[in-house]
Amino acid sequence: MTSAPASAPGTFVISLDFELMWGVRDLQTKAGYGANILGVRQAIPAMLALFQEFDIHVTWATVGLLFFDTKAALLAALPTERPHYADPNLSNYVALPELGPDEAADPYYFGLSLLRQIAAVPGQEIATHTFSHYYCLEPGQTPAAFRADLAAAVAAARQQGYALHSLVFPRNQHNPDYLAICRELGIRCYRGNEAAWMYQKQSEATQTPWQRAARLLDAYVNVSGPNTYAPAALAGPLPLNIPASRFLRPWSGRLGLLEGLRLRRILGAMTHAARQGEVFHLWWHPHNFGANLPQNMAVLRRIATHYQVLRQQYGFQSLSMAETTDKILARPSASAQR
Ligand SMILES: [Zn+2]
Repeated sequence: MTSAPASAPGTFVISLDFELMWGVRDLQTKAGYGANILGVRQAIPAMLALFQEFDIHVTWATVGLLFFDTKAALLAALPTERPHYADPNLSNYVALPELGPDEAADPYYFGLSLLRQIAAVPGQEIATHTFSHYYCLEPGQTPAAFRADLAAAVAAARQQGYALHSLVFPRNQHNPDYLAICRELGIRCYRGNEAAWMYQKQSEATQTPWQRAARLLDAYVNVSGPNTYAPAALAGPLPLNIPASRFLRPWSGRLGLLEGLRLRRILGAMTHAARQGEVFHLWWHPHNFGANLPQNMAVLRRIATHYQVLRQQYGFQSLSMAETTDKILARPSASAQR
């Protein structure tokens, strides 16, 4: 027996946090993780070719500091109001003295050529990951500093010809008090966290080891369920929450057989979303593909191939976060209910 066909097709969302060194500088060194960051220059073209082959739409949540081709242009666009985190090492502004003059000299902190490659591929949405990789739940930062940061991101994008509609909060530090600021600055949707308890976020310091362990386990076996979402449950005032369903963990040779479980968990949730007319939202960072690129691309190809089957069988649709927002707001039931 099969379940009744869903009234509207399901939606496959992918969002990628494009950040290069800005997303990991406080945790990693160039010596320790630099190869992954440089590997992004091969990973992005490889991913784009696959997305084009399978007509997959993707939201690229990009750090605002990546919208510049020279250090001089970057320095001229910095907001005057900046976050003063209790832990000063969290602030990316401390890295400014070590920046090279441009992308050719400093491929760790500049990436405008990559952004242009992304924007040239149909269906790819340029979105924001804040200007400075801003941490919305860390002690010391304020609403005024967040507003200045996001305004700088909007301005930097506009200067390159992009309008920002979607946001991913760095480290998934989702601050509900900041949604009104997002709306004022033109943001129509953001990626919220998975609904299960192990994905609830406070500041980095308050993460419990239990949460980390449970998230790791959940990647391989079904602890939290498919984490897919009915469109009606996502409707509401702007910005809409298009929550994450799953983080695509980088391929790990050490985990061997577990790799199969990890992939099966993702494909199963996609099938669930396609059958039920729900939203499945997968995310990762390009630098997760910065090492072991062939193995990571093989996993992504399995996912894309499964998407293709679900599209044929159930009309499963690949949409960016902004397109998903439009689809949710345009539902016939959204107006019929009134
Ligand atoms: Zn990030």
